[in-house]
Amino acid sequence: MNQLEIKNLNVSVAGNEILKDFELTLPKGEVHAIMGPNGTGKSTLAKALAGHPDYEITSGEILLDGESILEMEPDERARAGLFMAFQYPSEIPGVSIANFIRAALQARLAEGEEMEATAFYRRLYEKMDMLKIDRKFTSRSVNEGFSGGEKKRNEILQMAMLEPKFAVLDETDSGLDIDALKVVSEGVNALRGEGLGILVITHYQRLLNYIVPDKVHVMWDGRIVQSGDKDLALKLEEKGYDWVKTELAPA
Ligand code: ADP
Ligand code: MG
Repeated sequence: MNQLEIKNLNVSVAGNEILKDFELTLPKGEVHAIMGPNGTGKSTLAKALAGHPDYEITSGEILLDGESILEMEPDERARAGLFMAFQYPSEIPGVSIANFIRAALQARLAEGEEMEATAFYRRLYEKMDMLKIDRKFTSRSVNEGFSGGEKKRNEILQMAMLEPKFAVLDETDSGLDIDALKVVSEGVNALRGEGLGILVITHYQRLLNYIVPDKVHVMWDGRIVQSGDKDLALKLEEKGYDWVKTELAPA
């Protein structure tokens, strides 16, 4: 209970086994980082959690506050409290950020229930103030012509408004410029707290200079090969991923 538990998870993509008996427990209130070389299965983990149909879970379990999400569609997982942020969000021309978020919130309500506009905007502006986002921002079309930093700002605002129980941010490769990096880390730091567990997936140690994680997990070949505190990320930075391959990888 009160945690996201991934137990013995095996995931195949296009007939190849990518995640191998993957285990992770993320309690609410904590920020965990997963680091690892490219091709090790980090994004596969995120997509399997999201319920992407191409990522076949062949065995294992994913429990959100004790309840299995394996049979849930992606939107049901979101309603159950899982928030996923991917690196390349879609553009939705003609739909403002405010309306997009409102529709996302509305979709979670029971049939016939209406979200009141004033209450929505009150909450939206509250979250924007907390995240130091300019009010003009919400009238722009979702991701259209956005800089990397603006895409991230939109994503973090969505996360703040949806108030998930668990958030997974896949920040894989070089797509994050320094501006985007700061937006993500300031957002995560503003939102971290008791009711939320955050999993930050990253290839680069530098993101963790801004987001200080409670735990760091090093991934290699579809599984976690070492876990530790924030110092593990520094060690990894210093020793490089070859160290993982030669010393941490199971024989
Ligand atoms: P990471 O995020 O750690 O860089 P990925 O999870 O993206 O790693 O990829 C892990 C492995 O799974 C790679 O060998 C990759 O080629 C393969 N893979 C991931 N997604 C797909 C896909 N949609 N189709 C085929 N192979 C895939
Ligand atoms: Mg990736």
